[in-house]
Amino acid sequence: MDVLSDGVVDVEEGGITWSGPASEAPDSGGAEEIRVPGLLMPALINGHCHTPMVLFRGAGEGLPVDRWLSEVMWPRESRLTPADVQAGMALGVAEMLTNGIGTSSEMYFHADAMAAAVEEANFRSVISAAFIEDDSFAGLGSVAEQMDSAISFNTRCAGRPTVSAGLGPHSAYALGEDTLASIGRLAAEHDMLVHIHAAELPAENEMVGSMGSTVIQVLDSLGLLTSRTVVAHGIWVDDDDMAIMTERGVGVCHCPVSNMVHAMGVAPLEKLQAHGIDVCLATDGPASHYRLDLFEEMRSALRMHRLSSGDAGVLAPVDVLRMTTETAASVLGLDDLGQLRPGFRADMVHLDLDQLSFGPILSNEDIVPAVVWGGSRAAVRDVWVEGSPSVVNGVPIGAPVHELRAEVQSRAARLASP
Ligand SMILES: [Zn+2]
Repeated sequence: MDVLSDGVVDVEEGGITWSGPASEAPDSGGAEEIRVPGLLMPALINGHCHTPMVLFRGAGEGLPVDRWLSEVMWPRESRLTPADVQAGMALGVAEMLTNGIGTSSEMYFHADAMAAAVEEANFRSVISAAFIEDDSFAGLGSVAEQMDSAISFNTRCAGRPTVSAGLGPHSAYALGEDTLASIGRLAAEHDMLVHIHAAELPAENEMVGSMGSTVIQVLDSLGLLTSRTVVAHGIWVDDDDMAIMTERGVGVCHCPVSNMVHAMGVAPLEKLQAHGIDVCLATDGPASHYRLDLFEEMRSALRMHRLSSGDAGVLAPVDVLRMTTETAASVLGLDDLGQLRPGFRADMVHLDLDQLSFGPILSNEDIVPAVVWGGSRAAVRDVWVEGSPSVVNGVPIGAPVHELRAEVQSRAARLASP
């Protein structure tokens, strides 16, 4: 998290080959030079999202989460076509990119449609196929068929620099034990990420109570917790759960805005970190968060944990910035992302520091707090993913946003009617 004045980053074939002070930079050898009059920083990483849910933004507002899922979200999701998912993903990706996000980790349906939107926008995603055992999703085929299709999607990701595949069992309460155990075995066999909601609902430990005393113990007994497992939320965990998570090397995605919107609770962030568990930040789906905005998430994490602990020193801006860059990369197993150093992929954001919410900046030490407390899409000028432009002067280079908005609007209206 060093801030250099007059820094240089050399990029070749999508990767960073040198970074440091301009005075020590190697000769560019006639390569193209891009001047960045502001701050160049790693693109942000969104650890847990269901981006195509922009199609459902605002639906079921104010309902308790169990009714919000079963009465509003799942019926709409059961009607989704791949074209709906691609349109929703494309619009959500445009929103993330213009908020300085270069990578998301997704749990959703129709992985190929999502991957097409990701590549068209020059974005990066780990796309985990979602599994839910509920009659609403009968149209997706049997669980075995869905597993086959997730594995063949994984095969189709080979050699594609910005898309990779994971397995996304929704939660221990939405799937049977046998299915969960099979997903764990498949993930191990194909070295895929397991991306699952756990310990989100206050009653979740009781909901899975017949299988073990806590949801974390149940998932562990089914072989689902490994260093390739990402737990979204992780609110209702006790010391024994955290000891298991540490032992297995599980990462956690903390979603403060979603947790506040749905009144789920306050994740024990300091305790998780004290146990040595990597915790990143995430927006969760746009139907929960409304905005795909990690600046908002960083500020919300600071506010939530300072207020709930009564300690204004409990988290620093640099801590939450790490949770959206290098720690997020490590949680997702993307070890060459999240830092502007040689050997890392060139996913970068250029922020305009002349925004009204940023001044006065008197020294480089003021920059990280300014970015975290005052940052917003207004400051995001350019974004590069894999060394290529994705946002130029505030405008995403993918499909035109006004056309995507109109398309999402009409698809959302169709999906809302039974
Ligand atoms: Zn979620």
